[in-house]
Amino acid sequence: MATVIVIGGGYGGAATAKALDDVADVVLIEPKEEFVHNIAALRGLVDPEWTDRIFYPYGRLLSRGRVIRDYAVHVEVGTVTIGSGERIPADYIVLASGSTYPFPAKMDVHDSAMAKSKIATTRAELIKADQVLLLGAGPVGLELSGEIKAAWPNKAVTVVDPIDDVLSGQYSDAMRKEIRRQLEELGVDLLLGTSLTKEPPTPPGVASTFTATTTSGAEITADIWFRCYGIVPNSDYLSEELAETRLANGHLEVTPQLRLPGQETVFAIGDLTAIPEAKRGGAAGRHAEVVASNIRALIEDSDELVAYQPAPPLILLPLGPTGGVSQLPGQEDFAGPEMTAQIKGQHMFADRYAEMFNVGE
Ligand SMILES: Cc1cc2nc3c(=O)[nH]c(=O)nc-3n(C[C@H](O)[C@H](O)[C@H](O)COP(=O)(O)OP(=O)(O)OC[C@H]3O[C@@H](n4cnc5c(N)ncnc54)[C@H](O)[C@@H]3O)c2cc1C
Repeated sequence: MATVIVIGGGYGGAATAKALDDVADVVLIEPKEEFVHNIAALRGLVDPEWTDRIFYPYGRLLSRGRVIRDYAVHVEVGTVTIGSGERIPADYIVLASGSTYPFPAKMDVHDSAMAKSKIATTRAELIKADQVLLLGAGPVGLELSGEIKAAWPNKAVTVVDPIDDVLSGQYSDAMRKEIRRQLEELGVDLLLGTSLTKEPPTPPGVASTFTATTTSGAEITADIWFRCYGIVPNSDYLSEELAETRLANGHLEVTPQLRLPGQETVFAIGDLTAIPEAKRGGAAGRHAEVVASNIRALIEDSDELVAYQPAPPLILLPLGPTGGVSQLPGQEDFAGPEMTAQIKGQHMFADRYAEMFNVGE
């Protein structure tokens, strides 16, 4: 039986491993103790009931394959070397190591108890703070402002971003206007087209009052701040040959079949790739379907490989459990708060991923 090594058990890697479990010897390499459903991480920060619900064990994801809790440290065609020093031969390799993003949007520790304790500590710090400063008016900064206001309506929340409007990307002006309207209604202050002259003196997520100055001369006093920007793809383990098509920003070019250019057996999916579309867990799941189908075809000696079609602009942006806006595929108009709450804000797709990991919700 062919061996498929999947590097990274996030949204894309876990789905690929599961989809190939019946046809290959799957080895999933992942340093985290449990899958973190980071789509709901910001809800997990403000609402203690959600904290446990964003961790799913890997134990029941695969029936035949195995999960090795380690890092890939060197990947070349046909072999993956992991942190322990073990070299594992592979017929196919799927690079699914995603991206890192500042806590609390993504976890920066691998042990679940430690991650839960860090979330609880940060929530306690947030509770102490009356004035919150968020740096970044992209999806994470906006979503966090909505979560904080939904949990603690009396906290003052300011969002600062050097770009002139909320949410960069190919979204309509009407949708941005609606986001600004809802933020105003929630009492979130937006300071756009400006940035801080220097980073706040305290570490992010720690309650301690400071005053910062913006490049436009405004002074902001806050009791806590969070960094809501800075996605970094995890691709530093590639051999020289495989790193040839890595871009300066760390993303990997892929062919329409989602292989690395010039490679027959090495695929890449998810946030790691340079596919021209928004980086989304949903997209990583669709990449996984294409790669699983293509590896299955290669294993079965078929040359019927499928090509991936990048998704049109798509976003589901809750502002707390009952607010937000969404741009859905195939629809010209954006969806408002009720629809966004129904599609994502109320349940945060917890059931969908609990099912994938075969754990009861
Ligand atoms: C707050 C927040 C909300 C979001 N909301 C949504 C949403 O509503 N809908 C949506 O579709 N998307 C959403 N996203 C985006 C989504 O989380 C990402 O696009 C998604 O995580 C990408 O999946 P991935 O499988 O490519 O990588 P990741 O989920 O980043 O997983 C990569 C995995 O690889 C592991 N890894 C890293 N390096 C190595 C290595 N060297 N060896 C082995 N393993 C390694 C990591 O530990 C990690 O588990 C949100 C993101 C954030 C931060």
